[in-house]
Amino acid sequence: MSDSLKCNVCGKAIESRKDLVVTNQAITRFLTFHEDCYKKAIKAGKLLGRPVNTVASDIFLAIILVAALVFYIFTKKFLLLLVLVASPIYRFIIWWRFERQLKS
Ligand SMILES: [Zn+2]
Repeated sequence: MSDSLKCNVCGKAIESRKDLVVTNQAITRFLTFHEDCYKKAIKAGKLLGRPVNTVASDIFLAIILVAALVFYIFTKKFLLLLVLVASPIYRFIIWWRFERQLKS
């Protein structure tokens, strides 16, 4: 059980993907929580970072990708290409590191 995901609030293992909330702080530092523990901690005013594995965050990412693509077509700015390439990789890393380990 040493490689199981642990909740950063209660310290217990996270069993299912539905129960998992991953947040990031400073982009590279990820924290994992039970959904309920995360909600309680947020209500208590703790700053835990934004969830990165929710439907809302995926929609947000999709919007960013479409916007970056459209702007890239018009402006050919290299930075936008970087966003286009990096964003799906970033999302994949989160899936690979956390969600992949759990049953859906
Ligand atoms: Zn918990």
